[in-house]
Amino acid sequence: MKNFVTIKLKIPQREEILEAMGQYSRAVGYIADKGFKAGVFKRYDLHHLCYYDVKERFGLPSQFVINANRVASQTLKSVRTNRGGKPVFKEFLPLPFDKRTFTFSSDKISLTTIKGRIDVAIEVLEYYWKYLDWSPQTAQIVKTKKGLFIHITFSRDIQDCVFDGETIGVDVGINHVAVTSNKQFFSGGKIKSCMVKFKRLRSKLQAKGTRSSKRLLRKLSRRERRFKAWANHNISRNIVDSCEAGDTIVMEDIKGIRKNKGRKFNFWLYGWNFYQLQIFIEYKAVRKGVRIVKVSPYLTSQTCSRCGNLGFRSKGFFRCPHCGYSLNADLNASLNLAKHDSMTDRVSAAVNQPNIPNDESKAHPVNRG
Ligand SMILES: [Zn+2]
Repeated sequence: MKNFVTIKLKIPQREEILEAMGQYSRAVGYIADKGFKAGVFKRYDLHHLCYYDVKERFGLPSQFVINANRVASQTLKSVRTNRGGKPVFKEFLPLPFDKRTFTFSSDKISLTTIKGRIDVAIEVLEYYWKYLDWSPQTAQIVKTKKGLFIHITFSRDIQDCVFDGETIGVDVGINHVAVTSNKQFFSGGKIKSCMVKFKRLRSKLQAKGTRSSKRLLRKLSRRERRFKAWANHNISRNIVDSCEAGDTIVMEDIKGIRKNKGRKFNFWLYGWNFYQLQIFIEYKAVRKGVRIVKVSPYLTSQTCSRCGNLGFRSKGFFRCPHCGYSLNADLNASLNLAKHDSMTDRVSAAVNQPNIPNDESKAHPVNRG
């Protein structure tokens, strides 16, 4: 497994770079145009349709032509699904590089252009120095109003990391969208009201059944999807921000739980994508050097996080009849996850020392959602 990090550096607006970006962008437009007219959108087919033509016409190195082809194909595919018109491209699209077309050293980068290889002086900010011993993988040059930037992605093998930090349990989707054992509560109240609004609008539009209402429905579902992803990004960022490299996050393995109309039903009802939330947590965590452990959801929510016996949940609270412990049910579940012993794939129910002081039983949720 690998860790990835992307660093962003400002580079001078060299003529050779702008030329390559411009020709590349025109090539993308040209391929998309030809593909659109011919009804061809797969990479392989586009390649056969116009590889040599493009290479000659725009004078691009073959790696750039292959990338232009990939971007044109992606755009044509999305135009097809969204039933859009002929795609239009910006004057300067992001120009991708890989190990064949760029090399990195701490004071300069070397780039392939139409005029051959060029060296560009760079200055790496002190904040990024810690990544200089990672290995550079890919890069992308982007033109913005503020100038030219290169985004370089570095990786390192995760075996180099030692996970001796904290263990944080993250429980998703009971009364809250997510609750962590370090006591972050993502209430989901706002999410719920938005989902209700989407649902109401959807059934209204479905009842109409006209062509324009169908178009609006597609627009609505795109908006809904973006909203869900936005919320999941926010929650996952907050969770991972509270961790340090070397920590471990323990989550339930919720694959396939969608069919189960049990305790997770509340939020699944609104079509919330918990799997996406976990994936977002996972990739942000891995990037930061935080390990992810997935455990089977068995008894996580019914076990007392203090004495390990079975208890009851009611109205969002967990009560243990054995030791008298009572606390927020979702927090209890996340505390159980945090106690998970990574050697076995189950919640270790036999933990006898209470690891939280008594007053935590009165812990009140902080609403973040
Ligand atoms: Zn107990």
